[in-house]
Amino acid sequence: MSEFVGWIASRRPCLKNSLVCTHILVYDCIDMQVRYHIDSRPIEYRWYRGKEASISKEEIICLLDQQRPYDLAQAYEKGPHVDLMNLSCDQDWVAFVNRWGPLWMSGIERSQGRSRTRLEWCWAFQRCLKSYARLLECFGRPGLEGHRLRDFLNASEDENRVRGRKPPATATVHFFVALQLDPAAQHNFDEEFKLWLRHASQPDVRRVIADVIKFVSFAATGCLVAEWQGVRPRIAARLTLDSLDEALEWMVWNGYWMKKPQMFCQECQRAFRPESAHPRKYCSYDCAHRATDRAWHKRKRAMEKKGE
Ligand SMILES: [Zn+2]
Repeated sequence: MSEFVGWIASRRPCLKNSLVCTHILVYDCIDMQVRYHIDSRPIEYRWYRGKEASISKEEIICLLDQQRPYDLAQAYEKGPHVDLMNLSCDQDWVAFVNRWGPLWMSGIERSQGRSRTRLEWCWAFQRCLKSYARLLECFGRPGLEGHRLRDFLNASEDENRVRGRKPPATATVHFFVALQLDPAAQHNFDEEFKLWLRHASQPDVRRVIADVIKFVSFAATGCLVAEWQGVRPRIAARLTLDSLDEALEWMVWNGYWMKKPQMFCQECQRAFRPESAHPRKYCSYDCAHRATDRAWHKRKRAMEKKGE
């Protein structure tokens, strides 16, 4: 079991280390607000957008636009993680890859300026990221927690299967650890989950979700870089974001760090980023209007029925 936990800990280090290592707090002396500044990485670690992306044999193939590199951490402001959660067809992926580049590329692909990504993985990755964001959103909301936990664990397992990751489980391992079951034993996850959920109390469900969230935090690691800029020495704290998929996972975490997490519209179910930390139910005026209009008509019909 400790082998599993160690492996996960190395991939998803705890929040505390990340907070210490990767974010520089800059205090503005005029209004005393805390600002969070993320240092840029050297140009060779930046990511490439795609160009002329297309789909062939269940893969997205694209040329890398090496003339327009961008910084993965700075891209957070534009919300590519939210865009990704809202993709709904293969052609949406083509547009996404043209804008943000492939989720991942090998060193050879980077140097050859051309990448291929399996669509099956793209969809599995999206499902996993989205279900994780939904799990975070529902934490503490009675009625939804068990359902969201199951969704996330299934999505996480599916992504591991598609990527051929070993050991084969991440989030589910912690689910089993939290239940004090041996994660290395053979389990029929869905059956085990249903059985557990049938008897679990609300505090138990919340405890397990808290454990899973904690160990699958998607926080990026950080490091200190010592370098010379001409004759000037410089030591800087930097995020370690090696690929777009890692950066997108970190962005979900960063939404909470910045106190502006992404949310999901209760009307159209799309992911959106609220302008303030204040929780919002709907992504737009139109969605809010549609929902209140429907509620009003429902009330009216009920009143009419009562009056008959
Ligand atoms: Zn909406």
